[in-house]
Amino acid sequence: MDILEIIRKKKHGEALSKNEIEYMISAFTDGKIHDYQMSAFCMAVYFNGMNDAETSALTEAMARSGDMLDLSRFGKMSVDKHSTGGVGDKTSLVVGPIVAACGGVFAKMSGRGLGHTGGTVDKLEAFEGYRTALSPEEFFAQAERVGIALIGQTGNMTPADKKLYALRDVTETVDSIPLIVSSIMSKKLAAGAHNIVLDVKCGSGAFMKDEESARVLAQKMVDIGKVCGRNMAAIITDMDTPLGFAIGNALEAEEALALLRGEDIPDLREICLALSAELIAMCRGVTADEARALAENALSSGAALEKAREWISAQGGNADAPLPKAKFTREIFAHGDGYISHMNAEEIGRAALELGAGRKTKEDKIDFAAGIVLCKKTGDFVHAGETLAVIHTSCGEKALAGEKIFRAALEFSAEKPADKKLIIDVLR
Ligand code: URA
Repeated sequence: MDILEIIRKKKHGEALSKNEIEYMISAFTDGKIHDYQMSAFCMAVYFNGMNDAETSALTEAMARSGDMLDLSRFGKMSVDKHSTGGVGDKTSLVVGPIVAACGGVFAKMSGRGLGHTGGTVDKLEAFEGYRTALSPEEFFAQAERVGIALIGQTGNMTPADKKLYALRDVTETVDSIPLIVSSIMSKKLAAGAHNIVLDVKCGSGAFMKDEESARVLAQKMVDIGKVCGRNMAAIITDMDTPLGFAIGNALEAEEALALLRGEDIPDLREICLALSAELIAMCRGVTADEARALAENALSSGAALEKAREWISAQGGNADAPLPKAKFTREIFAHGDGYISHMNAEEIGRAALELGAGRKTKEDKIDFAAGIVLCKKTGDFVHAGETLAVIHTSCGEKALAGEKIFRAALEFSAEKPADKKLIIDVLR
């Protein structure tokens, strides 16, 4: 087979065969196809797309390009969740304990944050002593005993996606639906869970800025997962405003625990319960209503909080110990009266990044204590002089830069903005 012929076909909008896609991914992974050829292929896909059969073949070939986690020992109880990335998204820290308290097995590898979105592993490392690397024996034994084991990426999973994503990143070909679907779903298939829920974010803080593209992306991922024998669900959620009030690793870990302790954080609670209910329905084989009731009960009874404590302590941390605190805090006051009509979540994520909460490059070190706690959110009325948010950082100079970006991310109006739906749709 010949890569030039494959690029030529895609350039002319022709469909590729499963064999051609399998050959291309295997040869690319082995270094037998040059980066510049694969870049040309990505651009051809960007313009001409892929049909469902091609997208499926690409996803499966990428999933099989490296190690695959075998969770078959957990039968049909293994669960996984994926978020397409947002600001203030600490849902894994809540969904994992809720679902584990209801009998699911959340044995999962998670990523680190880059740019304006955070990563679950960074939030967990805010707990002093939390071990994000476990041996395979430790990982499986803990998942069996506790129902949750959550570690950083190890081994050689989906090397084709790693290489391809790096090329897409520098060739302006990230935002192609078949390439996103195959990238995300290849990782989910390789991660081995039988039941998968996807949180597809939509809005200013998300990859998919509009509802229609979020819906297309979600449906394609659900369909591919099902074709590959997994139980699938996707919820499309609004990411026009950060989720919850806290943005930044230790601040988000604290907020996740606060929700588990029973504090009222309405948007975070709603999304965590919706995601948990989908997973519980799939792994326990109960109806959506029964699953929702089980999830709510795990939260309100304190069973999920207990599970979180057990999990964090099994991995070397302590959920009851104080989390890192920033040296400096700075309140951001409103300059005038009005409703907050829009918060640009991506820009607020960038403000937190500036304060030290994230990485601009993979090598950057994180300030776990840095971030922003919102005091007001979209739709709230504020009076001049009221606190809009509190900035946390270890470096006073960064506070000013962070404040500037934060202020620019807010829009005000004299009229109350229309309420937006938090959960836009559920696809199964
Ligand atoms: N997240 C991924 O893992 N891959 C993409 O292509 C886009 C978002």
